[in-house]
Amino acid sequence: MEGDKRTLVVRAIGKDGKTAPEHDSDTMYGAVFGDELCLAQAYRSCSYDQLRIVPYVGITTTGKDISNGVVDIQMTIDPTTSKFEVIQTDVSAQLQLQLGDVIQFDLIIYCIPRNTEFNWIAFAFANGRESFYHGKWCNRLSSLQHEVGHNIGFAHSGEMDSSPYPSPYADQSCILGVSYDAEKRPAMCFNAAKMFQSPWYDNMKRVINPMDYGVNVQKCFLLYGVVDYQPTIEVDSGKYVSVLLKQDDSPYGYYLGYNRKRSFNGETQESPNSVTIIMKEWKNNGYAQSWKNATLKDVGSSYTISNWNATESSSSKSSSNISIKIELTEKNKNNNECRVCVTRVEGNTFIVGTKAPTASPTKPMTNQPTKAPTSTRKCTRRNSKKVIYVKKNGKKKKCGWIKLGKSLKIRKNRCNNKKYRGKKIKHRCPKNCGLYAGVGVCKFLWLD
Ligand SMILES: [Zn+2]
Repeated sequence: MEGDKRTLVVRAIGKDGKTAPEHDSDTMYGAVFGDELCLAQAYRSCSYDQLRIVPYVGITTTGKDISNGVVDIQMTIDPTTSKFEVIQTDVSAQLQLQLGDVIQFDLIIYCIPRNTEFNWIAFAFANGRESFYHGKWCNRLSSLQHEVGHNIGFAHSGEMDSSPYPSPYADQSCILGVSYDAEKRPAMCFNAAKMFQSPWYDNMKRVINPMDYGVNVQKCFLLYGVVDYQPTIEVDSGKYVSVLLKQDDSPYGYYLGYNRKRSFNGETQESPNSVTIIMKEWKNNGYAQSWKNATLKDVGSSYTISNWNATESSSSKSSSNISIKIELTEKNKNNNECRVCVTRVEGNTFIVGTKAPTASPTKPMTNQPTKAPTSTRKCTRRNSKKVIYVKKNGKKKKCGWIKLGKSLKIRKNRCNNKKYRGKKIKHRCPKNCGLYAGVGVCKFLWLD
């Protein structure tokens, strides 16, 4: 996550030599390395210049001269009708034939021509170097920042209480949530769990074990947003950008941060100027899904985590009578500093807070996926209304039929297996499959 990342943007050209991505070399240079808000700028800002995306310039081991970090690679297939896996395999193989080993590059961004047969947005290898973008998504800041985020080790940012099911992409205070159909925006960074995972703010991170403090003893500190990070402040100053509340006996911890909406985080899409409480596996501090559990906006608001430090395994979970209360006690008038107090509370008589929080995801999450799912965009009405499903008797139905399934199993089966005109329902009706089959609001979790 640190240092110069020699980055190559690849424009994938079809075997006919004509089919090309939507954006020319200059546009792609601008989107990735340019002067305006671009991928490199976003990472430089968010990482305080510690992660630098620089164009690959030089002569490759095969003798190819690359002057500005952007290159065209001709494939042996027709990308407008091929499946994603076929495209990915072919373009990657052709790159190695034409330029040599991929280790010459730290990041490779593939722009793939638009395909009307298969619906996908973007894809990246977790802790890898390659990312792939479909059509216009190669020139969308959020999809670039999101997928490169997977490359450098960030998993998705979701929300437990997004309606009607927990969604692994719903945390819009972080670019590892959904992606947005816009060039050069939104200007935003990462949630508190990702910030803790990165090495970019080490002097303003802190681990707190609430069990180290007595019952009803408040442990208070100041939280700042990423835009107010101070590189020179001493360690353990009481001023932090990310605080981990660690549970010794559980793999999950809670990360507290302040999502200050300003400057390079000025277009954060959710929980502006609020304290966010994010759950994530803390033990490896590595690639793992994060879940935003709560947002504290107003002074005096609080959130209580019950069943604190209950031991947990994949099959069982004990209970504890310990709760941890997190309270926003002060905000300064400039809106850039929050005082937060954490209190350990014991006993069953303690009732506070607005809702019963969940101490761990309801579904076990995969620890180390080899591939990250694609990014998503917000669902629009178009997604669910435009496409119809045709029953055996020839009657047409809108996508709303998916919700009529009696059980999750039935709904998933419909989405996964039924087809209309050769295309699976999960691709025809992604919004409804997402909503009603319990995989979250948005589409393209359904990349085959
Ligand atoms: Zn993703």
